[in-house]
Amino acid sequence: MADSVRNWAGNITFGASRVHRSVTVPRLQELVAAGGPVRVLGSGHSFNRMADTTGDLVSLDGLPRVVEIAADRRTVRVDGGIRYGELAGRLHAGGLALHNLASLPHISVAGAVTTATHGSGVRNGNLATAVAALELIRGDGELVSLRRGDEGFDGAVVGLGALGVVTALTLDVVPAFEIRQYVYDDLPRARLEADLPEILGAGYSVSLFTNWASPDVNHAWLKRTEPMPAGPWFGARPADGPRHPVPGVPAENSTEQFGVPGPWHARLPHFRMEFSPSTGAELQSEWMVPLDRAGEAIDAVARVRETIAPVLQVNEIRTVAADDLWLSMNYHRDSLGLHFTWIADTAAVLPAVSALEEQLAPLQARPHWGKVFTLDPATVRSRYERFDDFRALVAGYDPAGVFRNTWLDDLL
Ligand SMILES: Cc1cc2nc3c(=O)[nH]c(=O)nc-3n(C[C@H](O)[C@H](O)[C@H](O)COP(=O)(O)OP(=O)(O)OC[C@H]3O[C@@H](n4cnc5c(N)ncnc54)[C@H](O)[C@@H]3O)c2cc1C
Repeated sequence: MADSVRNWAGNITFGASRVHRSVTVPRLQELVAAGGPVRVLGSGHSFNRMADTTGDLVSLDGLPRVVEIAADRRTVRVDGGIRYGELAGRLHAGGLALHNLASLPHISVAGAVTTATHGSGVRNGNLATAVAALELIRGDGELVSLRRGDEGFDGAVVGLGALGVVTALTLDVVPAFEIRQYVYDDLPRARLEADLPEILGAGYSVSLFTNWASPDVNHAWLKRTEPMPAGPWFGARPADGPRHPVPGVPAENSTEQFGVPGPWHARLPHFRMEFSPSTGAELQSEWMVPLDRAGEAIDAVARVRETIAPVLQVNEIRTVAADDLWLSMNYHRDSLGLHFTWIADTAAVLPAVSALEEQLAPLQARPHWGKVFTLDPATVRSRYERFDDFRALVAGYDPAGVFRNTWLDDLL
């Protein structure tokens, strides 16, 4: 076995025989053509075994960075190893932006896209919805391209690394924009119940954070292009100091607040690129439910508040717009995301995960691909209308199973 490689959270030690940190695209093609098994490790921010392999684990971090803005300034082509934090500054310098970002810029674009990673905003699709084209090495070692509108494209984008090694992506871009971030403390539960759609739709991106120590929301983070009037907001008070998403944690790694305008990439994530994100000692889970059942979903979480609170650092409630990507958690439904940052203790956390999955079952909750979930594979499959089509697509791109691992074998 190779020197031990772990994911960011440290809860997974990969079982690879060989780890490749410096590869070229032709070398990758050779490696794949040799039959594998091969998996790509992005920035390692997933919390489960989806990136694991017993064979060759390949990092694309060492690929030459590519940031090619199209002549019409509508798209950018990037390499398969770049992270959002590296891309964002270069795009902004060129007067361009991505439509949204996740809570952290540290993750690789390819890894985030393949798991349908998302930020928040009722009108914002997840990060995979910005993909206009993909270049990937399929199971026979051939480098192929797929563009939006091509057969199978909607199945390939959120591909869980099962179709091949993504060597480059073309992303839609928009003109660079400025945005402001405001934080409000103590949003009363009664106002949340009475005004939920207005609260969730009050900004470009809205996130509510609660540790469920009480039924109220600890704080609400609003990212808006327009300034907010002074004073309370839905009964919540403007924060009197900078906040970290986890109540009580020092805010030095949080992005600028208090409504100070700044570039999109310095406000849309909650965490700054130059610091380690979140708390570091943690596990995460997230489920997507239909937005029009948001009230029911929050009530379902509240019912198990006493079970989850002892192992919970914070629950983030956010929104994602519907899309057409077959394995996106937001496939054909505007969604409410219920994200949980847990303590870093798998055995203690799993009962809370299962309790939530039971409560959220009537809402057909779809678990985030990159996080911790315990739902059995048949149930997960049943929540995706196009799952059989995805399976057929994988069989076409990788008939010999070069990119398979135990996690995918169980799911597929
Ligand atoms: C602190 C923290 C905050 C987070 N915040 C959010 C958030 O706000 N929103 C959200 O939705 N998620 C969030 N996540 C989850 C994270 O975005 C996902 O786990 C995402 O997949 C991480 O990207 P990665 O590059 O680290 O992927 P990895 O974990 O390295 O890999 C994920 C999958 O992608 C595959 N893969 C990676 N690169 C390639 C490639 N080039 N070709 C083929 N397959 C590839 C891997 O094999 C694996 O199957 C957070 C995670 C952490 C640790």
